Amino acid sequence: MNRRFDTVVVGGGIVGTTAAYYLAKAGKRVALVEKGRINGEQSSRNWGAIRTQGRDPSEIPMMLDCLDIWRGVEAELGESVGWRQQGQMRVIYDRKMRERSEAFMPTAREFGLTTRILTPSEVAEILPHYDARDCQGALFTPTDGCAEPEKVASAFARGASRLGAAIMDYTAAVSVDTQNGAVCAVETEQGRLDCETIVVASGAWTSRLLKPLGIRHPTLWIRGSVGRTGVLPIEMRKLVVWGKCAYRQCPDGRVNIAVAEDGFHDLMLDSLVHGLKFLPLAQRNWRNVRFSLGKPLMRSMMGEYADFTTHRMLDPRPDWKGLARASKRFLEEYPAAGPITYERAWAGYIDYTPDELPVIDALAKPHGLFVAAGLSGHGFGIGPIVGKTVSDLIAKGRSDYNLAPFSSRRFNHG
Ligand SMILES: Cc1cc2nc3c(=O)[nH]c(=O)nc-3n(C[C@H](O)[C@H](O)[C@H](O)COP(=O)(O)OP(=O)(O)OC[C@H]3O[C@@H](n4cnc5c(N)ncnc54)[C@H](O)[C@@H]3O)c2cc1C
Repeated sequence: MNRRFDTVVVGGGIVGTTAAYYLAKAGKRVALVEKGRINGEQSSRNWGAIRTQGRDPSEIPMMLDCLDIWRGVEAELGESVGWRQQGQMRVIYDRKMRERSEAFMPTAREFGLTTRILTPSEVAEILPHYDARDCQGALFTPTDGCAEPEKVASAFARGASRLGAAIMDYTAAVSVDTQNGAVCAVETEQGRLDCETIVVASGAWTSRLLKPLGIRHPTLWIRGSVGRTGVLPIEMRKLVVWGKCAYRQCPDGRVNIAVAEDGFHDLMLDSLVHGLKFLPLAQRNWRNVRFSLGKPLMRSMMGEYADFTTHRMLDPRPDWKGLARASKRFLEEYPAAGPITYERAWAGYIDYTPDELPVIDALAKPHGLFVAAGLSGHGFGIGPIVGKTVSDLIAKGRSDYNLAPFSSRRFNHG
């Protein structure tokens, strides 16, 4: 096999696979290395929401262009990924939620989003089986959508492979090699891959890969859980809805229900190393953050997470108590759906940065190193344009977006 590439992409999630796809499409010789199965971590475990609604304004120009990618993705890749543009809704139950929804409207107007605030009767019309008794309205963006997380990154990887990219699964990148201030190779389990540029799209593992280079990438792992019900006798027109919990009906009538507002942090050594940087974020979400002291702490103390080959796929335990609470809340909204049992449940570790924004950056040192990681719980929807943006930075030497808010320097000054 050719061991020399223009670019080596580290990570086979939505960011890495889309970066590899667009780089291969631009004519670059690309290798993608993934320590486990392609699409084994966050990108296959999320809720599937693809939204402009509620986003930080700095991400919205990219996200609007990303919707164009989503609209054309099935034609582009020649396979179904479950893309449906049927809206995103956040139901309003109290004054705080109303204020939050209204606070987003100036941003929505500034960027020309389709977002509007619905009355309770409009909500009831869109959600025929929903019990609108407690409802005070909803924030609604009809042009947002969803896709099936199990399908998307794998489809992009297949697309990249058809364009000539080498897709190497079960191949961990062990380190990044540099020479004269520039990257020159990725050392992997299968040996050295020489290259001119490297894309680090390694999700929750990024800080570990960058640390030996002296680059800080502070993230905490937050565990998110999802349960899938059997087929329910209700119809919610396939919207992604945040009500008393979060939910999305699959095309076959099953419903994915998630523990929405709660973030579960399994205490680990990283909590001590990065903890202080996360105090403002923790204070803002104090009532919703839960901590757990258990096996992950032991594992991190034994150095298991320092090694990219011990955990091929992060597969944390679902928060069953939280899922039971979520199903009760779901039944308050859809009494006709009961009783609820989950056919399966899963969880994933989300890589949160302190300001909940990603790093998308061409680093000055070492030259040739590109980082696209830390997507902070909303990276599935925006992932394809993040991958394309990194590809543009490499293939065209520029990007169409203001990437200043996503600079790695915000964690590496001084
Ligand atoms: C429960 C849950 C719900 C979510 N809901 C949503 C949602 O509705 N909408 C939304 O937009 N986002 C959502 N997200 C967030 C979204 O899934 C992530 O932001 C996004 O998938 C991140 O993609 P990624 O490619 O950066 O990371 P990942 O998908 O985690 O991929 C990184 C890959 O890099 C690999 N890797 C790491 N280190 C190495 C190494 N050294 N060598 C080789 N490979 C390596 C890993 O094995 C992994 O496969 C959710 C996440 C979770 C867990």
